[in-house]
Amino acid sequence: MTLAEFQRVLPLVKVWIRETLTATAPNARPVASYGFARLPAYYTPAPLSQSKVIEVDRVPVPPLSTFGLSQFRDFAEMDADGITYLDTYFVRREAARQESLHFHELVHAAQWRILGLERFLALYAEGLEKFGYRDSPLEVMAYDLQEQFELGPQSLDVETVVTLQLRKWAMV
Ligand SMILES: [Zn+2]
Repeated sequence: MTLAEFQRVLPLVKVWIRETLTATAPNARPVASYGFARLPAYYTPAPLSQSKVIEVDRVPVPPLSTFGLSQFRDFAEMDADGITYLDTYFVRREAARQESLHFHELVHAAQWRILGLERFLALYAEGLEKFGYRDSPLEVMAYDLQEQFELGPQSLDVETVVTLQLRKWAMV
């Protein structure tokens, strides 16, 4: 994707995210309301009370093909268990009780927070295009941390780890 292409699509994606979050806001609940026992060993109270969760039958993905980005078709049609936009993440209803799925999406929420919207989208799109979904750097970070979480128990400040990793990769 060229810079010009990114700049053309960015406002469309921004509007789509805003409209999606506005339309679904009534169904949002704080992740803290799930009462997960292990997340507090990895996240400070702020992200757990501020991050919002919306349970859905199918997670929403921007209509990237309609926006002219047909190279992301596989991603758009993936039917993932979860997806994060800013401080809000969507989970498939059937998977909503999986604490490690919430852990994974909270890593993305931290990435959004640290990088900001434009930088997150630019890096995510770049990684997706170069390496594919699973090997894109922001996903590798989330999956690696998720694996550590599943292997637990331990205590880890995810926000700090994510900040340091982004810095190491010169992403911030
Ligand atoms: Zn992910």
